[in-house]
This record gives sequence, C-alpha cells and structure tokens, in this order.
Amino acid sequence: MTKTLSSPVPPGGTIGILGGGQLGRMLALAAARLGLKTQVFCDNPASPAFHVCDGHTLGKFEDLHAVSMFARACDVVTFEFENVPAATAEHLAEVVPVLPGAKALALTQDRLEEKTFVRSLGLQTSPFMAVATPEEAADAFATLGTTGVIKTRRLGYDGKGQAKVTSAANAAAAIRVFHHAPSILEGFVDFAFEASVIAARGADGSFAAYDSPENAHEHHILRRSIVPGRLTAAQNESAKEIARKIGDALGYVGVFAVELFVMKDSSLLVNEIAPRVHNSGHWTLEACAVSQFEQHIRAVGGWPLGDPARHADAVMENIIGEEAANWAEYARRPGALHLYGKAEIRPGRKMGHFTQLSPLTRT
Ligand code: AMP
Repeated sequence: MTKTLSSPVPPGGTIGILGGGQLGRMLALAAARLGLKTQVFCDNPASPAFHVCDGHTLGKFEDLHAVSMFARACDVVTFEFENVPAATAEHLAEVVPVLPGAKALALTQDRLEEKTFVRSLGLQTSPFMAVATPEEAADAFATLGTTGVIKTRRLGYDGKGQAKVTSAANAAAAIRVFHHAPSILEGFVDFAFEASVIAARGADGSFAAYDSPENAHEHHILRRSIVPGRLTAAQNESAKEIARKIGDALGYVGVFAVELFVMKDSSLLVNEIAPRVHNSGHWTLEACAVSQFEQHIRAVGGWPLGDPARHADAVMENIIGEEAANWAEYARRPGALHLYGKAEIRPGRKMGHFTQLSPLTRT
C-alpha cells in the first residue's frame, strides 16, 4: 500500500531528501526556515547538502534496506534528482509518503514516454521517433529528413547521452556509440531562444507558477536565466498553462520545471519535464517572497502553496568549474552569491550561482 500524507508535516517534523547535491542543499535550507528538519540520503560522502541538514545517511539508492531505515526517520520523502531508481521510490512509498510520486519519476526518466505523454495532452514537442538499432536510426533519419539529435531514452542530462546527427550514417553511428541503448531521434529545432516554467502543485490541486525565465546554455549547461526575458506576456501565460496541464495530468505534488523551446512563430514546444526544483528557478530565492525551494517544501509537506509573484527582475548566472576560483571577485559584486560547498572544482561542474536583481519592469 502506498502511504499518503494525511495531515501537514508540522514545524519540527522531518522532510527526507534523496540526493545531496546543491538542490538538496537549498531545499534543506528552505525547510530550516520553516522550522522543519531534514534528513538527506546520498551515496557521496562529500555531498553539499550534508553540511546543512539535521542528519544524513550515506548509502546507495539501490540499497532498499538502507533506504527504508532512512525513511523511518522521515514524515515525508522527496528527491532532488530524477534518476532515483523506480524500485527504490516504490519500496519507499510503502514506508512513508513519497512526493512527487513514483508515476512522475517513471514518466520523466524515459524521454519516449515523456514526449508521448506531453503530446497526449495536446501540447507541442519536436518531432521524435523511437530508435534502438543502427538500422532503425538510419531509417528514422531518412523519415525525418533533416538534422536531428539522438538522445538516449534514459539517464541523460546536461547534453550527456546526446549526439547531433546530420546524416543516416551519423545516426546509425550514434546508436553504436551509445551501445545500442534505447533512444529517440528528435528533429533539431531552430528555436528563437529557450525558456522554462517552474511551477508547483499541491495535493489539493492548488497551483502556483513563477514567471518564465529565458535561459541561455553553453556547452549544454545552463549559463544564465533572465526574467523577464524575451517572452511576451501572452507566452508567459501560455507557459504557465502548459505547466498546469502537465501538473494536473500527473496528479503531481511538489515543484517541477518544464523546459521550453520558444519558436520563431512564437509557439512554445515542450523539450523536457524535470520533476524537481530546477537550476533555471534559482533566481526565485531573491526575486520572490517564496522561492522554488520553499514552495517545494510547502507542497510536499502538505502546507499551503506560497505566493510565486516576483518583486524584482533578475539575472541568475551559474558559476561553473574554474570560475569558482574567482569567489572573492564575485563577493565584491552587488548581488547574491551562492556557493555550494563542493569539495573539488571540476570542469563543467556547477559550483555556485550569482543573482543580480533590478527594479521590476513587467511580466
Ligand atoms: P535536453 O537534455 O533534452 O534538455 O537538451 C539539452 C539542450 O540541448 C537543450 O537545452 C537545447 O539547448 C539542446 N537541444 C536539445 N534537443 C534539441 C533539439 N531537438 N533541437 C535543438 N536543440 C536541442
């Protein structure tokens, strides 16, 4: 039997977080502000979230015994990354309420299922086809007839498990490189720019969405989020409606992000759903009374959702890899500096972020 939350987790109660990265760290900080405790489960002894929580368990996500011992100390369990094994989420759900649930996890772990689901809601995505063999990839490329991207169905992030392909031979080769992992071939989209929407849904169906930031990526990693970006007021509203449809259809509880391609004809395509707080929502820490992190804690704790209104414009820049060595220079800049306490600088690693506010102009 899956456990459900029968009443809100009161101050002094404990939220369990699977995953100990920077998202877990900022969730734990937000929970503390509401008088809630946090327990973090992660397999990395140097997890940034371990520094700021009330207790932690070092263990493997596949170790169902360790995971259930951890869960016994929690009133509700949530996660900060989407690759929690489905079996772990299902097992946990028998011990403690797990929010958002196993359904959202399973769906967003598989790009084919996810895109098929998004289409079933009448929302737009790039064209896509399932491919698992070099022959299928070559045939799919011929059908698509244009530049595409092969993406593994599972376990890809920040451009990992992805290859841009410009010929049938290319597409076939990509499947070999991915060791024949079940994949999709997606049409390469000539978008105007990228955006996202970060939204929350409560167990009672309540819904709150933040204004959509425009997002710029470099080497597949988020470089900056700007709000308001180039989205029109109508696109901002459409983005929120897209999130509402997805949240309702999943019976989702918690914060999630929908990554969008904003097309030159001004339509919005759904690229990906992240069933968690999201890097492109970090600016909400300073620009909103209730950040995405507090909103997630509120939602999974059964509390009322907070007001997502923005009281300032914001530009959030990630601090990536070696850039973190310049922390003293960032500290001199006017704005909010967040450093994640990671033990080691590595190329491409998200080490912190910096948010600069300016007076509110428009949505
Ligand atoms: P994803 O892992 O699907 O979020 O993709 C990472 C990034 O790759 C996106 O944010 C885009 O910048 C780029 N990208 C992914 N899919 C496509 C596509 N079909 N067309 C154009 N760019 C894409």
